[in-house]
Amino acid sequence: MEKLTIGQFAQMWIDATAEVKSKATLFSQLDAVIGDGDHGEAIVTAMNVIAEKSKASVTFKESLNDMAFAVMLETSGSTSTLLGAFLLGLCDGVSPNVTELNANDVKVMFKSGLASVEKNTEAKCGDKTMMDALIPAIESMSGCQSNDIAQIFKAGATAALEGAEKTIGMKANFGRSRNFGDKSIGHKDSGAASWSTIFESFSKTTSILK
Ligand SMILES: [Mg+2]
Repeated sequence: MEKLTIGQFAQMWIDATAEVKSKATLFSQLDAVIGDGDHGEAIVTAMNVIAEKSKASVTFKESLNDMAFAVMLETSGSTSTLLGAFLLGLCDGVSPNVTELNANDVKVMFKSGLASVEKNTEAKCGDKTMMDALIPAIESMSGCQSNDIAQIFKAGATAALEGAEKTIGMKANFGRSRNFGDKSIGHKDSGAASWSTIFESFSKTTSILK
């Protein structure tokens, strides 16, 4: 896959939303271990808004801008704030008027997405948050030498899933969940689980696209 069109990009978000929906109960159960148990509902609500907006795709920049503002204005909470920041970062990382991206454009866009999220959270790898999935995903995408966009997303998905898996052994070290201390060990972080599901789905979708 040498080019990613705006229509294919929209399909990635639509498919990811369906995947996230199918695992919503699991995300809430994981969140309930060290939080309020609402992550499944929060991420499904946010992803629904994003997927709906992605359908009106024109250019990458316009589409990402609309997706970002829709999720930030129509929903609230840290889940939608971080997804909004990610989408705004993706938006910053693409040139105006572009309707298809090559492999390098995809890498640049996703790197910009991470940079934007990093401005919105102090969490680092090892803190047991969604960053344990997102940071390795973007680093692996950036480091992927292939010009096949599907391979780049595959690298991202593999790293995101490994990163999320690693949170099982971690103690929550961020925000309110820190108060739960050792109780958090033995369970995957809900945000790392949902974000890795999104990257896994991106890989699935792009592996089918030609
Ligand atoms: Mg929660």
